[in-house]
Amino acid sequence: MNKTTTIIGAGVVGLAVAAELSKIHNDILLIDKNPSFGQETSSRNSEVIHAGIYYAKDSKKARFCVEGNRLLYQLCEESRIPHRRCGKVIVATDPDEEEILESIAEKARDNGAVPLERLSSQQIKALEPNVKAFAALLSPSTGIIDSHRLMRRYLSEAKKNGAQFVTQTMVSRIEKRDRGDYRIHVTYPDGDTDRFNSHWVINCAGLEADTIAASMGIDIDACGYRLHYWKGEYFSLDVPHGYIRRLVYPVPQVNHVGLGVHATIDLSDRIKLGPNAIYLPDRTLEYGVDNSVRRSFFEAAVRYLPDINIEQLNPEMAGIRPKLQKPGDSVRDFIIEEESAKGLAGVVNLIGIESPGLTACLAIAKYVRALVEG
Ligand SMILES: Cc1cc2nc3c(=O)[nH]c(=O)nc-3n(C[C@H](O)[C@H](O)[C@H](O)COP(=O)(O)OP(=O)(O)OC[C@H]3O[C@@H](n4cnc5c(N)ncnc54)[C@H](O)[C@@H]3O)c2cc1C
Repeated sequence: MNKTTTIIGAGVVGLAVAAELSKIHNDILLIDKNPSFGQETSSRNSEVIHAGIYYAKDSKKARFCVEGNRLLYQLCEESRIPHRRCGKVIVATDPDEEEILESIAEKARDNGAVPLERLSSQQIKALEPNVKAFAALLSPSTGIIDSHRLMRRYLSEAKKNGAQFVTQTMVSRIEKRDRGDYRIHVTYPDGDTDRFNSHWVINCAGLEADTIAASMGIDIDACGYRLHYWKGEYFSLDVPHGYIRRLVYPVPQVNHVGLGVHATIDLSDRIKLGPNAIYLPDRTLEYGVDNSVRRSFFEAAVRYLPDINIEQLNPEMAGIRPKLQKPGDSVRDFIIEEESAKGLAGVVNLIGIESPGLTACLAIAKYVRALVEG
């Protein structure tokens, strides 16, 4: 089996890349180690279409989030993928935070995001009667999406264009061959192994993207490619239907690892609080929710949802962020590199694709296509 293009990882990014590259390559192999697509980070997140507000000017996160937001709404409308442009409010729960709102609005402007609207405490009360804040920003272009339907849409497009999808196939090692292409070694669940050759290797392996890069001989510490795992837990909030109609976010902290415990709604109007951010030094894939943090979630949320009580919070689910940032570090950007400069022409590594990776997936896929087209 000799393939021209191999995409490792069928999360939302690998699937978007497969759909995009299948328009120009007709012999694509998309590989995932799990029994189906999207079983890791891509199905363990807030399903928010972000606006591109918080990220550093000129960063890939900012650029691909703003572009991805626009492209994703367009795709959802064309392909009838369930979504809602519900908007989000960023609330100042303390008078000192009002100043920070101004800097957030400025950053959104710098990034070319849809402008944010300033709301007074009365205006926020009129829009969201259950939310309390001194002041707020309204982001009209933030929304929510059915990420599973999005992933299915990408997979069907890739397959329609001739791409092949194989599951339960773990890439264990990648070796550069003398003739310039790559030998890809894979292992199956029963321990059997196989190998095949590929001209292009697109590494979309999410939480294992650095391990895949290391297996090609890249020094991931020297290159700054080493990933750190940060778990994010969620609690459901058992309140009447329609309790909030927009997503509600606190003002984020400096060098934020997450965006603070916020309230999101899904397409069936269920409310989730979270995620928090817990560093996992051992890089274990452990998705349990620790009920002992319930009080800290309640205390964070009651600042802007003053009428809730702790009994309404129940453990829901968790996801793990593949971050380039370890504790104490400042925020890092996505790495998306064609690796010719490292002597690995034809390899594209995508590393540290944490939030807003879901929002950015289509913009990332178009960028990868441009790298492949040279
Ligand atoms: C708690 C949390 C909340 C988030 N909320 C949002 C949000 O609201 N909005 C937003 O835009 N983004 C959000 N994100 C980020 C978003 O979920 C991710 O950026 C996105 O899902 C990354 O997709 P991916 O395809 O890169 O990775 P993944 O979904 O992790 O996919 C990688 C795939 O690679 C496969 N794989 C790994 N190693 C191998 C191997 N050796 N061989 C074969 N296959 C392999 C895995 O099985 C997996 O399927 C959130 C993330 C988290 C953790």
